[in-house]
Amino acid sequence: MQKKSVWNTYNETQLTELEQLAKDYRNFLNVGKTERECVKETIRLAKANGYENLDDIIARQDSLKAGDKVYAVNMNKEIALFTIGSESLEKGMRILGAHIDSPRLDLKQNPLYEDSEMALLDTHYYGGIKKYQWVTIPLALHGVVAKKDGSVIEISIGEKEDDPVVCISDLLIHLAGKQMEKKASEVIEGDDLNVLIGNRPLTSDEDEELKDAVSAYVLQILKEQYDMEEEDFLSAEIEVVPADRARDCGLDRSMILAYGQDDRICAYTSLVAMLEAGPQEKTCCCLLVDKEEIGSVGATGMQSAFFENTVAELMNCMGNFSELGLRRALRNSKMLSSDVSAAFDPNFPSFFEKKNAAHFGHGLVLNKYTGSRGKSGSNDANAEYIGHLRRIFDDNGVAFQMSELGKVDMGGGGTIAYICALYGMEVIDSGVALLSMHAPMEISSKADIYEAKKGYLAFLKEA
Ligand code: MN
Ligand code: MN
Repeated sequence: MQKKSVWNTYNETQLTELEQLAKDYRNFLNVGKTERECVKETIRLAKANGYENLDDIIARQDSLKAGDKVYAVNMNKEIALFTIGSESLEKGMRILGAHIDSPRLDLKQNPLYEDSEMALLDTHYYGGIKKYQWVTIPLALHGVVAKKDGSVIEISIGEKEDDPVVCISDLLIHLAGKQMEKKASEVIEGDDLNVLIGNRPLTSDEDEELKDAVSAYVLQILKEQYDMEEEDFLSAEIEVVPADRARDCGLDRSMILAYGQDDRICAYTSLVAMLEAGPQEKTCCCLLVDKEEIGSVGATGMQSAFFENTVAELMNCMGNFSELGLRRALRNSKMLSSDVSAAFDPNFPSFFEKKNAAHFGHGLVLNKYTGSRGKSGSNDANAEYIGHLRRIFDDNGVAFQMSELGKVDMGGGGTIAYICALYGMEVIDSGVALLSMHAPMEISSKADIYEAKKGYLAFLKEA
């Protein structure tokens, strides 16, 4: 059952489409380095494609009918797009789900301190990371500061060409004898991920020396540029992310190297398919959630009632809400819960079982199950559903591959699939394979991005 690279199957037109999609995707990654930024860009693209805010429709007590396009936003961190189908919602939806939060370092709520005339910011990492990978690389600060008066200031430092960046230092190799003997998980400890943000003291008018003059100078800059005080960190969400831009990777430009591809690679391809699909018989949905990397918890994670509530609102706008109708709509739905998979890595062959591993250039990945230690925590999709999807992908010339994360008992991971499955809908983990998942810069294959988008589009039309 050895499949071949899909690259050799493309004609000129397809290669042009592939490059255009890759370019648009790189742009999405560059403007969307946080879940909030991804929501903002998704709203922009949705509006440009005729989608209207569901809140506005509810506010003016308007109704929804087949062909209408709406979006709903949850706390600026989660978004759902719907295209109303010609069939009753009770018959079920076609749902593309993915997450838009990515591993990173978050500033603590009281982050600023000064040590040895250096101003630093304390962080708490978010999601699973190899901490040692986050030192000595250019970092940017993204996020919001919510002031007491209700105003919200957006922060972005380190992205523009002439912006400064920030960084976390590492011990020089010359003195690192003892450090190098430590376990990799302890080489850099969580509380040592301190972001260096300044070294120049504020000059005072009087002769007396200022205490903590370096952080005072940094605070003065924040006051000037963002009108924020040190106390405002208390109600801020500032994420420390790699400052690098998404780049073509490989001499043949066949890959993309970028931050946050888990899971914006599935989010973006799902979104593009959704915008391209247009109205179908079934109501289509593209759901981009937050908090997947920390267990899908919180008001903006998949475990919250946002999705269910939004579907209830849709039914109400169509004049046929009932509790039973809502349950039927959810139970009769089919979903591709898309998240990244591990691509086979020739540098680490012993961690993979080759014929059940995902390979770059072999297309969209389906994972029947995820989980760890005997599929624990997995969704485990139904064979009948997989058979149905195989037919759709084959009919539409979509290259796909079945994989699991690594060798049995090597580790594991979870997604949002099992949460959606609680409604009794058919759901399978699908997505795109990455190298270096959760590293500051992750690698993907352009061919897989192209096949994923094709697969999502075929799913919305035929599932
Ligand atoms: Mn993920
Ligand atoms: Mn992840």
